[in-house]
Amino acid sequence: MRLLQTKYNEAFVNTVAKWGLKGKNAIFHVFVPFDMQDRIEEADKVREALDFLYPDIPVIGCSATGEINDGFMTNQEIVVSAMVFENPSSNVEVFPFYAKKDQVAVDRLLEIAINTPNLKGIELLTAASYQSLEAAGEIMDKLPENVEIFGAVAVGDQFRKPFVFANECDYSYDSSVLVMYVGTDLHIQTERMFGWKAIGYPLKVTKSEGPVVYELDGRPAYDVYNHYLHIHNDDSFFYDALQFPWEVQVDEQTKYVRHAKSVNPDGSIVMSTNIPENCDIRITFGDPIRIMNHTRQVSLDIRKFAPDAVFLINCMGRMLFWGDKEDIEVSEISKDLHTTGFSALGELLRYNGTTFLNNLSIVCVAMREGPAKLNYDCTMDEIVNSSNLSVTHRLAIFINTITEELMEKNKQLNDMLYKAAHDALTGLLNRGAIEHLIYDTADENSEEYCSTWHLIMLDIDDFKALNDEYGHNAGDNALKSLAKYLNQDVRCLDSSEAGRWGGEEFMIILRGYEDNEVLNLAEKIRKDLNLIPSPSGNFSVSIGVTRHDNEETVLATIDRVDSLLYAAKDSGKNKVCSDL
Ligand code: GH3
Ligand code: MG
Ligand code: MG
Repeated sequence: MRLLQTKYNEAFVNTVAKWGLKGKNAIFHVFVPFDMQDRIEEADKVREALDFLYPDIPVIGCSATGEINDGFMTNQEIVVSAMVFENPSSNVEVFPFYAKKDQVAVDRLLEIAINTPNLKGIELLTAASYQSLEAAGEIMDKLPENVEIFGAVAVGDQFRKPFVFANECDYSYDSSVLVMYVGTDLHIQTERMFGWKAIGYPLKVTKSEGPVVYELDGRPAYDVYNHYLHIHNDDSFFYDALQFPWEVQVDEQTKYVRHAKSVNPDGSIVMSTNIPENCDIRITFGDPIRIMNHTRQVSLDIRKFAPDAVFLINCMGRMLFWGDKEDIEVSEISKDLHTTGFSALGELLRYNGTTFLNNLSIVCVAMREGPAKLNYDCTMDEIVNSSNLSVTHRLAIFINTITEELMEKNKQLNDMLYKAAHDALTGLLNRGAIEHLIYDTADENSEEYCSTWHLIMLDIDDFKALNDEYGHNAGDNALKSLAKYLNQDVRCLDSSEAGRWGGEEFMIILRGYEDNEVLNLAEKIRKDLNLIPSPSGNFSVSIGVTRHDNEETVLATIDRVDSLLYAAKDSGKNKVCSDL
């Protein structure tokens, strides 16, 4: 496979005619600078010329910035590239899906994709909203994992809408173009470059809606920039904040980087895309050395693959981050490879089976037909040498080391606090902790205060006999089974908590319940616990139930529930006794 490229200029038609692509399987990419109105007319001319010269070769394109031509970023130039396949089995299929209801179209495309033999990759150029993109990604993820999915969000701003186009279709400002890369001997490898390093503690997104984050750890989101970084809400906010984007941890495996665009008067921050509520974020630090190291590493991995062509989807934010060195990464990768691409608003990549919209990354798509033909120099250039680290880099290391140590200490402290409040055998609250909670519930000045609360106290019947006859282990197992039940079936109820009161005695507190609800629950507990397997064949508990009277002391309530429990014992066991 070959990659041919040119800028749009007076010689364009001649240049492209000389490429001699008649009868070839190929695809044209046209990257159009987003910020120049008259470029649409030029793009029209490009498309007309391509259609005239090579009516059978598909053309796709989008609004872009930082178009890559021959390994260099250009600005404000239309760049046209041709990926030309040599093997007759390699080809592309282009699907403009301009349908408003993308869902239907994507479903249909999935069906086609599943039934396409030797499908190796899917490219998506899009001007669609983030939501429909997410939905499309989810559907595409149903494809076998060896199908690479990659793409880009076309560039636009508040004045100029992003657009995509394909073949003879008109420009679309709200939909996508999808390309299937097919071939028995076609190989595609994708990589993602990041390099941003998380610093400081994780913060929880406590309030967000779409891309607007209102609160982090219950405080206005803007505090994170204002308080910790002294980045103010002025004209340079975007650029200042760009050096400290967020690492968003959505679940155990999923992390991505998002950057802040602006601050609202209420202290909320508008992020580059949606930030789900309740996820953890960490501020990251854009350290040029670290970023370049990562880029070099990827460049090395790509060279090992020995691609015939490389499609780079750079992030516009990343390009802005580098300022006047915007070429640095593209030229690193392009050193001895043929690259094309552009800087986008977002970079799509399927990673570990899931398609994500990335920000501030570079998605690198390497393509090759047949076995690796070329041998690239895969020795890596000298990377960070610790003697020439910048002061900023050292400070970032300092912050990270300290943060990690503090987080470890914090974890140890939390473990200790947990152990101090929980019973080792059953994992339930221990006597001290449940007692504390009961007293706090009665205390008008406490956060736990509740005006109506009940106690349910239970004690295993004839537990001594179980121990004596079947051993201490059998007794322990019965205690654990009972605790498991309390944990799963009682503690899950709103405003309820259970603890181990003594050896085989347990206390449950219920806040804000009606008498009959509590009585029904006690009876249910008694019956359910009869089912606990016991070597003796029968297992039962006796239960006392009462309500706290606001005129009495907590101790009086506890004494009463204890007496009621013993009343249940005295009247034959396996009973609920209450004064309600
Ligand atoms: P009743 O029906 O009247 O409640 O009789 P009981 O045998 O259950 O009551 P008693 O209070 O006489 O016995 C409680 C026993 O619980 C005594 C003690 O050996 C046992 N026990 C207390 N803690 C544990 C424990 O952690 N594990 C085991 N296996 N037994 C325990
Ligand atoms: Mg007992
Ligand atoms: Mg007892």
